[in-house]
Amino acid sequence: MPALTRARRPLALALAGAMLCALLTGCQQKDEKNETTIFAMDTVMNLTVWGGQEALDGVVAAIYDLERQFSATDENSPIYTLNHSAGTAVELPEAAAGLLDQALQLCRVTGGALDITAYPAVKAWGFTTGDYRVPSQTELDALACHIDYSTVRLEPGSSVLIPEGVEVDLGAVAKGYTGDVLAEELKAQDVASALLDLGQSSILAIGAKPDGSPWRIGIQDPAGEGYLGVLKLEDMAMGTSGGYQRYFEEDGVRYWHIIDPDTAAPARSGLASVTVVSPSGLTCDGLSTALFVMGLEEGTAFWRAHRSLEFDVIFITDDGSVFITSGLEESFSLAQGYEDREVTVLS
Ligand code: ADP
Ligand code: MG
Repeated sequence: MPALTRARRPLALALAGAMLCALLTGCQQKDEKNETTIFAMDTVMNLTVWGGQEALDGVVAAIYDLERQFSATDENSPIYTLNHSAGTAVELPEAAAGLLDQALQLCRVTGGALDITAYPAVKAWGFTTGDYRVPSQTELDALACHIDYSTVRLEPGSSVLIPEGVEVDLGAVAKGYTGDVLAEELKAQDVASALLDLGQSSILAIGAKPDGSPWRIGIQDPAGEGYLGVLKLEDMAMGTSGGYQRYFEEDGVRYWHIIDPDTAAPARSGLASVTVVSPSGLTCDGLSTALFVMGLEEGTAFWRAHRSLEFDVIFITDDGSVFITSGLEESFSLAQGYEDREVTVLS
């Protein structure tokens, strides 16, 4: 047997140490499956971690902490304070300032299709309370005038100033960013396998399944109850925005929670859902909302022009047609019962 090289010796010692530790203290439980379901960020989250119970407890605590920072409806949240600051600067805690900064960058890069100041319109339609109503055209025109992310001033550091009449809502990006924070924390704890379903099709997959095979995530049929397709994911985030996720109907018309910042009304771009896949949860969440507003043609042009953002997309149109960008050719397949559906690959 060849002598261990200098470089290999520490590795061998570490392995021996780990085995001894496992034998003596039951460290093997670190790879145990631990799962829980919680209600946070206005949705049901299913969290599965192959790691100690402590790792899962840490995930849950972090979600509640971030929820408190990002909520626009919780009267104790810094975003609520900002929205009621009447034109005076507000100091945000670190995570809220970090998310606001990155969200504003996505607002800029999407040319305002994502606009975190759409909140007064979201409220006017009743999506924050469930008291749904269809605002008049005059009201919508007035609301649209106040939607403008460029009026949000984030000073170096964490002080933010917004003009009166403008309100901020991080709802379109909060779950994706939360997934990124959790992934970083779990990886720092050497968790190699976890599936964080943060609700409304916001998924963060850490590593692969414990057996080494990729995670298989169902893509909802926006026009039905079942899964239209299956996506294989490994160490990747995914986010879906769809008109079927949160909506109400009045006089036979459906109104959903994704707002076109130009009109202050639900975005009608011909898309029923948009799924974005990227290593960044924030990119998935922010871009799925923005691409839903843009529609298929503009959204495809955006994907072609922004390859550096490292994302792929599944567009499902109102008439049920499926379009995927070329990076998903290997990982996307149609689900049982949908095999006849035509899938167009965009390149
Ligand atoms: P969900 O939060 O249901 O997963 P999204 O990520 O698409 O769905 O975010 C939708 C939420 O973002 C809405 O509930 C609303 O609070 C807010 N929102 C709606 N339209 C926009 C928009 N164009 N830009 C930014 N935020 C928006
Ligand atoms: Mg989103």
